[in-house]
Amino acid sequence: MYKDTNCGEPRESTVGSQITVAGWVHRRRDHGSLIFIDLRDRSGLLQVVFNPEYSGSAHELAGSLRSEWVVQITGKVVKRLPGAENPELPTGAVELSVTGLVILNRSLTPPFEISDDIDVDDNTRLKYRFIDLRRPRMQKLLRLRHRVTHMMWDFLTGKGFIHVETPILIKSTPEGARDYVVPSRIHPGEFYALPQSPQQLKQLLMVSGVERYFQIARCFRDEDLRADRQPEHTQLDLEMSFVHQDDVMAIVEELYTLIVDETVPGSTISRPFPRLTYAESMERFGTDKPDLRFGMELSTITETAASSDARVFQAVVSSGGTIRGFAAPGCGNYGRRDTDRLVEFAKSSGAQGLVFIAIDESAASIDALEDDHIKSPLKKFLSVDVVKRLANEMGAKPGDLMLIVAGTARLVNTVLSNLRNEMARRLELVDNKDFSFVWVYDFPLFEWDDDLDKWEPAHHVFSSPKKEHMQYLDTDPGKVLADLYDLVCNGEEMGSGSIRIHDKDIQTRVFGVIGYTEDEISERFGQLLTAFTYGAPPHGGMGLGLDRLVAVLAGERAIREVIAFPKTQSAIDPLFEAPSPITDEQLEELHIRVVMPKT
Ligand code: ASP
Repeated sequence: MYKDTNCGEPRESTVGSQITVAGWVHRRRDHGSLIFIDLRDRSGLLQVVFNPEYSGSAHELAGSLRSEWVVQITGKVVKRLPGAENPELPTGAVELSVTGLVILNRSLTPPFEISDDIDVDDNTRLKYRFIDLRRPRMQKLLRLRHRVTHMMWDFLTGKGFIHVETPILIKSTPEGARDYVVPSRIHPGEFYALPQSPQQLKQLLMVSGVERYFQIARCFRDEDLRADRQPEHTQLDLEMSFVHQDDVMAIVEELYTLIVDETVPGSTISRPFPRLTYAESMERFGTDKPDLRFGMELSTITETAASSDARVFQAVVSSGGTIRGFAAPGCGNYGRRDTDRLVEFAKSSGAQGLVFIAIDESAASIDALEDDHIKSPLKKFLSVDVVKRLANEMGAKPGDLMLIVAGTARLVNTVLSNLRNEMARRLELVDNKDFSFVWVYDFPLFEWDDDLDKWEPAHHVFSSPKKEHMQYLDTDPGKVLADLYDLVCNGEEMGSGSIRIHDKDIQTRVFGVIGYTEDEISERFGQLLTAFTYGAPPHGGMGLGLDRLVAVLAGERAIREVIAFPKTQSAIDPLFEAPSPITDEQLEELHIRVVMPKT
C-alpha cells in the first residue's frame, strides 16, 4: 500500500504517530519558509506542513506542487499551534509535519475547482466527469447509492430472495418505449433488443420455481427526450410467486422505510403508507403521483362555474369539458406580477388560461362576503352568490386565492396538479426530511391512445385484470381495472408493479384488446405464452427506480447527479462522445448500410 492512514483520520489522539498518506494536492499555500498543502483523499482533507528544518529536500520539492498532483507523504502528526485550528475540518486540530514527499503523478490545471460550490455547465461537468466525481458531494452520492443497494441486497436476501442476472442481449420486452437494438454479426439482418426491463424474464423465473427473485437491473428505453430521463436507468426489480398485491406492498414498504430511516438522519416517514385508488388520486389531486405533504386538494366546480355569466366557463361545459380548481391559502393579496406568473405557469402546462378569484382577508367569513372583498378578472361575470358557492365548494377562506382551470378533464388535471406543486414550492410547504409515501392502486388496464386510435396498456401488457372486471375485457376495455400499483413519494413515482396474468388465455385476450395479430403475439411473446402452459404459478412484483430513490434520499432534483456516468438531456455522453459513427469495416461486418435522414 502507498498509505497506512487516510487523510481524514488523524486526530488529537493520534498526535505523535508517524504516518504515510497519499492523495491529491487540494490547495497549496506558500509562506516562503513554510509550505502548507491540504491533502485530499476520499476520506477528507489533512493539512500538511513542509518545514525546511525537518526535511530540506521535501520542502524544496513541495515548491513545485500544483493542484491535483498525486503525492505520497510521510510525516508526524502534530498538534496545530493555538489559534491555527480549523473547527470546520474533522482533522482541524492537527497537521502533518512532513519528513518525506514522493510525487506519484502530475496533473494539468483542472477545468474547474474540486469544490462543492462550483458553477459549471453540465456539459463540462460530464466531459470531465472523472474530475467532477472527485468533489466531496459527488463522492458522498456515490457512497449513498452503494449503501442503498447494499441494504437492498441484505434485506431481500434475509427475506429469501435471490439475485438473478438476466440477459442484456435479448428480444424486445416492452414497457411502452422504443427498443435499443444491437445488430448481430453472426446472423446477418437480425438484431437483439436491449430489455426495457427484465419483465418477461422475471416472469419466466417464476415459472422456473425461483419464487423470490430480485435484481439490480439495467433497463434501456429509447424514449423521446424529456427532462430528467436517461436512456438507461437502474431498477430494483423484484418478483414473487404465490402472492397477492398486499404481500408485494408489505415487502417494499418495509424495505423503503428501512432505507429512509438509515440513510436520512432526522427523516420522518408515516407508516403504514396511505393507499389511494387511482380514481381517488385523480379526483383529489389531479394526478396519479400526488404529493401528500400538503393540502390544496382539487374540487370540481363545473356546475357552479357554468351557472355564472362567464362565457369561458359556459363554452367549456357545452363542449363537454370540466372546471376544477383549488384554493391557495393566504394568497388573496397576490399582486398583478404574481398572478401573471401563475397564468404563465398554467399556460406552460398547456392551459389556455387560468382564472383566479381573490378573497380579501378582511371578509369576516365566506357567508359574509361582499362585492368589495372579491378581486378577479372575471368579476363582472361573477355574482357574489356564485363566488360564495365556489368558495364553499373549494374550501376557500377569506385571504385565499382560488385558482380555476377549464377544459378537457385530462388537461385540467395536468395543469392543476402542476400548479398545486408549484404553489407548495412558493409557499414553502414542503420539507425535504419528510418522506410521504403513498400507494396508488386499481389503475385502469388500458388507456385510449388518440394518435394511434386504439387501446394501449396503461402500464404494461402483463398486468392482471381485476377478477370482477374480466367480464368487460372484450366488450368495454376502458372499464377494466387491474391489480396494478405504483409507489409514490413526495409527488414522484418511485416504482410500479402488478399482479401478473399467469394464464395463457387471459394473456392472449389482453393482447387482442391491444390489437396484436396472432403472428405478432407468437413472434413477440411466444416464449411467455408457452411457459404459461407448463404450470405457471400466480405471481406479481415491482420495478422500482434506483436512480430516483437515491436522488430523493439525497434531496437532489436530477437523477443524473446520482449516476456515475450519465448522459445529457439529448442522450449524449460528452466524455466518450457516444453515440458516434462506427467504421465502414464494422458496418460491413454487420451487413448494415446507413441512410442519413434528409435535413
Ligand atoms: N417491469 C415494470 C417496469 O419496468 C415493473 C414491474 O411491473 O415489475 O415498470
